[in-house]
Amino acid sequence: MGRKRRKIVKRAPRRIPRVFYCPLCNQQAVTVVNVTGYSAEVSCGSCGTSVTVPWYRSSLPVDAYSTWYDVVTGRRKREEVEAEVERLRQLHEGLAEELVEALVGEGEGASGEEVSEAEAGAEAEAEGLEGSESLELSQREEPEGGEDEAGR
Ligand SMILES: [Zn+2]
Repeated sequence: MGRKRRKIVKRAPRRIPRVFYCPLCNQQAVTVVNVTGYSAEVSCGSCGTSVTVPWYRSSLPVDAYSTWYDVVTGRRKREEVEAEVERLRQLHEGLAEELVEALVGEGEGASGEEVSEAEAGAEAEAEGLEGSESLELSQREEPEGGEDEAGR
């Protein structure tokens, strides 16, 4: 009995939550719909608050939700987010796919492994969404560096 057992960290293989919490009406009714190659609509089924947000190759529903959350809570400007969607749309429609990948996708070539890792992270993020820390973390994941390089 004297031996210390290594602590086993439980990692439930649960799926990513698809229905998120709405800070405006306090309902768990926010879903990500109409995902295209460059945008996704995030909408609360309870109060109807809806924002079209950028959708990157490596995006997960929780990323779209996180952007939506920032917009509806005033942390990010809606126009800014919409401008990004528009930019992505133009890239998506106007440029060679490789270029889009270079600008948008860090997740290109992501195998199942990488996705499941991201899933685990996304899940943790979703669970901790009441705190603002997780939101900032997910913001940092946006490929801003790539954009700058390409834009200048
Ligand atoms: Zn709502």
